[in-house]
Amino acid sequence: MVEPYRILVSNDDGIFAPGIQALAAALEAVGEVWVVAPDREQSAQSHALTLARPLRIRAVAPRRFAVDGTPTDSVFLGINQVLKGKVDLVVSGINHGANLGEDVIYSGTVAAAREASLLGFPAFAMSVVGNGEHELRAAAGLAPALARRVLKEASTRRLLLNVNVPNRPPEAVRGVRWTRLGSRTYGAQVVEMIDPRGRPCYWIGGATPQYTDEDGTDCNAVLDGYISITPLSMDLTDHRTLAQLDVADLAWEPPPRGTGG
Ligand code: MN
Repeated sequence: MVEPYRILVSNDDGIFAPGIQALAAALEAVGEVWVVAPDREQSAQSHALTLARPLRIRAVAPRRFAVDGTPTDSVFLGINQVLKGKVDLVVSGINHGANLGEDVIYSGTVAAAREASLLGFPAFAMSVVGNGEHELRAAAGLAPALARRVLKEASTRRLLLNVNVPNRPPEAVRGVRWTRLGSRTYGAQVVEMIDPRGRPCYWIGGATPQYTDEDGTDCNAVLDGYISITPLSMDLTDHRTLAQLDVADLAWEPPPRGTGG
């Protein structure tokens, strides 16, 4: 008998978020789903690991575990402790909100998938673009087919995918596009308020993002009504700049003996 696939699901919105529940339910069609996710919202925690205190894993239902830590903590514990490395695929989401362009730097949803990839497992992250009410059906509908595709290709290549789905009913989605990361900025707005004790406090990150209009990007695909899938790599090297730089003007000369440490 062939063992069913084992799929680990996590997110950054917390284990009780509607998005992760829709994703876990959809992936049951592909294999045995295990959920290990933060016990509360952890959006924009990026790839943070908790190193200065112990973590707790709380079983909340069969094959469902809440971690009092970050998305990355959850995936690390899910793979290495809960499932002891017996994982075929890791899927993160469905995030309530876009992870387009530079969002992937800040996103806990993407980091959860990226941690799985760093640990050697195929992974993808799914997000629904938009604020307020999120239409999860299109993302949940795509998840099983994408999971099968990634599982099929996982033996021949390393795959880490970032998926963004327009916030509209499945019948209004125009198709799927393979994309590169675009650019999206939130500005530099700081809102100062006065707390009940008369001291100033500050809210950041509240601005509406601005998109750069560029063909082939995740931002444009979603704005055009398509599901965007971007393959991600870990290499942050600026290869174009590297090729243009010359070290001749930085010829190394050791400092004179006796200076410094
Ligand atoms: Mn989130």
